[in-house]
Amino acid sequence: MSDTPKLAAFRTEVRGWLEVNAPHGWRERYKAGSHEQFAREQKKWFLKLVEGGYAVPHWPKEWPGGGRSLAEQKVFYEELARADCPRLLLTFVATYHAAATLMECGNDAQKARYLPGILKGDVWCQGFSEPGAGSDLAALKCKGDLRGDRYVINGQKVWSTMAQYADKCLLLVRTSSEGAKQAGITFLLMDMKSNGIEVRPINQIQGDQEYCEVFLDDVEIPVEDRVGEEGKGWAVAQATLSSERGLTLMELTYRMRGALRRIADLIRETGREDDRGILRDFGQLVARCDSACAIADRFIDNRMKGVESIGDAQIVKNTYSRVLREYSLLGTRLGGMHEQYRWPITFGDLNTGNWMADFMNSYAWTIAGGSEEVQRNIIAERMLEMPREPKGWVL
Ligand SMILES: Cc1cc2nc3c(=O)[nH]c(=O)nc-3n(C[C@H](O)[C@H](O)[C@H](O)COP(=O)(O)OP(=O)(O)OC[C@H]3O[C@@H](n4cnc5c(N)ncnc54)[C@H](O)[C@@H]3O)c2cc1C
Repeated sequence: MSDTPKLAAFRTEVRGWLEVNAPHGWRERYKAGSHEQFAREQKKWFLKLVEGGYAVPHWPKEWPGGGRSLAEQKVFYEELARADCPRLLLTFVATYHAAATLMECGNDAQKARYLPGILKGDVWCQGFSEPGAGSDLAALKCKGDLRGDRYVINGQKVWSTMAQYADKCLLLVRTSSEGAKQAGITFLLMDMKSNGIEVRPINQIQGDQEYCEVFLDDVEIPVEDRVGEEGKGWAVAQATLSSERGLTLMELTYRMRGALRRIADLIRETGREDDRGILRDFGQLVARCDSACAIADRFIDNRMKGVESIGDAQIVKNTYSRVLREYSLLGTRLGGMHEQYRWPITFGDLNTGNWMADFMNSYAWTIAGGSEEVQRNIIAERMLEMPREPKGWVL
């Protein structure tokens, strides 16, 4: 689809800004440095985007750089990919999840307290999952007791992305065990510098530590940091999750299409233009990526019209995780033995320049934000209107 004149003008503006400001050489700096250096680099790039008015195009227009339409956001993501910029791994929970939750469900005092900090680079993490509560999130057990004007929290969270760098946490706790599981859940905003918090990063196969266990021992959270009413946190959590399944995925999908150019370059550089196996796999990859983008386009169109797009976010998610795996695998094949032996390998993502790390990391996307099987359940039940899975189904 070609750009409207307004979108074309926006594209030119963004492209011009990125030509001057894109952080060239970031792969080498991330690779050479420690996790702390990675965090510093990420923050620097985020603050540069804030300065340019591009960090939060999805926020309302009263915020600097906010008020961009979904079509403009799509253009922005495509241009980020074209300019080969790193993804914001450190601040995406803040700008997407935390902001969406506060804007939709927070009170004015909470918005005033926390949103400006996000634009200054505050890092947020998401404390939802627990060892016994992932797909079945409502089974969470981490306990919150209201004592006077504070909640006292005890329990454990797991898989909290970037929690080791986080200033704040979106926390789900159980404040009651009466009635339905969902009814006893409360949503809190936790200061990660509070007493009683222990963060233990989890070592990943590719040598990175992107997620953490978080142990909470008598952590106190003032009652004014509760979002919504006590026991109504499940509804608030849906605002967080719908941002995760919508905007985050949209960004990834459009960036993936831009990243395919790297494979095309690699095919040329390695003289494989006549290798029918490689070309077939690349063709399949492009077709799959295009179909994910087409569904993402439909999702955006529907959102702009205020129409619910049942199942689209789930299809995009499952397609994205498959495309990411095939993309990084093809890159690893083209890179040859050297790519497969590279060690130590560092953080993995969509396009880090280390194909093996990206390939290993691609499996994370089959689980993060809801596993593939759970997405398929939603597609089957809500989109295709197939029978629901039996109640009490235990794996
Ligand atoms: C990269 C990454 C980042 C993450 N970041 C965060 C974060 O920042 N904060 C946070 O709170 N959590 C985070 N998570 C956790 C994530 O939300 C959970 O891992 C996910 O919801 C799955 O839960 P689980 O790991 O407990 O697996 P389980 O729920 O135990 O699932 C195990 C297996 O059973 C299958 N399964 C479960 N239920 C069904 C069903 N009803 N039908 C069919 N199959 C089923 C699943 O598909 C899976 O294959 C992250 C996870 C990953 C991988």
